[in-house]
Amino acid sequence: MYVSAIIAAGGRGRRFGAAEPKQLLTVGGRPILERSVSVFLSHPSVHEVVVALPRELIDDPPAFLRSAKAFALHGPRKPLRIVAGGARRQDSVANGFRAASAASDVIVIHDAARPFATADLIARTIAAAAESGAALAALPARDTVKQAASGELVVAQTLPRDSIFLAQTPQAFRRSVLEDALRLADDVTDEASLAERAGHRVRLVKGEASNIKITTPEDLPIAEAIAEATDRSAEAFARRGAESPSPEREGFSRAGTGYDLHRLVAGRPLVIGGVTVPSDVGALGHSDADVVCHAITDAILGAASLGDIGAHFPDADPRWKDASSLDLLARAARMVAEQGLEVGNVDVTVVLERPKIRDHVDAMRHAVAKALAIDAERVSIKGKTNEGVDAVGRGEAIAAHAIALIRAR
Ligand code: MG
Repeated sequence: MYVSAIIAAGGRGRRFGAAEPKQLLTVGGRPILERSVSVFLSHPSVHEVVVALPRELIDDPPAFLRSAKAFALHGPRKPLRIVAGGARRQDSVANGFRAASAASDVIVIHDAARPFATADLIARTIAAAAESGAALAALPARDTVKQAASGELVVAQTLPRDSIFLAQTPQAFRRSVLEDALRLADDVTDEASLAERAGHRVRLVKGEASNIKITTPEDLPIAEAIAEATDRSAEAFARRGAESPSPEREGFSRAGTGYDLHRLVAGRPLVIGGVTVPSDVGALGHSDADVVCHAITDAILGAASLGDIGAHFPDADPRWKDASSLDLLARAARMVAEQGLEVGNVDVTVVLERPKIRDHVDAMRHAVAKALAIDAERVSIKGKTNEGVDAVGRGEAIAAHAIALIRAR
């Protein structure tokens, strides 16, 4: 499951009244925005982070967003994109949504002004949205809630407290649910309200009292106190971590498989593993129809749980028409590297009746290895016929099976 996080930091914090955007103020010595972004950058369930910033900050984003080093402590590196915020909160979220990977299954949205959401709260919200479609963190009301008559400071009614929850963020959505919600594009203070209005069930996840929203200067002393308490326990946790390194991370490796088949027709080049093999027929396809590159691309994306080749390089997209499949493979390898992972080895079987590929295998291994940025001895390519059986055996198609091992760098 691929998860994208959108941090809504596009507002100027008018209620705050400070000269600089409130998300750049520091609490406990760190900017509010850095705190809200870093918990997602270091989160094991989140694959990419999109930050919607006020337009005036886009050209000169804060240093901590520019410097990947600031997050080096937080485990695997992952894509961090910066987009311009819009006039309203949901415009910022919509801009973030457009910049997020087309492969994301779940999108989690968070207010930059809530710097203390824990990794556990984020994980529970993502899990509930993956299961139910939409979910938000919310706190049960502790005070008795009175509803006032409209325009007057007179109680119209007392609401039953046990059914009142105060909405927080994170809020998470399956991709299709968020698409429906953003299509409504009404002026609201959270995306969950849009999802409700679009007719989706929205699950409540138990929020955290410390997950406060910093809205006015009166909130700052409370934020300082929370920062002091959470930073102290985070330091203690980091010290314990340094003493006993995580067994999950150590020796971490994962396998993925890929398969591809293309028809063979006259008048097309036969490109296999980046090498054009002399042949009277070639593979039919939108790109160069290189089954070896396509199968390996799927294998490494699969091993990293990053979706598949069709999600990242859809053949309906004119950008990938006649694309070199070696180039697509290199792009997929960079996506894997951005997760802090590297390709250990790949092994491929090409199923093709004729011509024989034996004389070209070394050139293919070197071309594929270069795209993957690894040594050629870690790339294996083997040829096979289908003994005259089925369409591949009759020479009407070429197929490839690939397996890849990836591991933490
Ligand atoms: Mg293909």
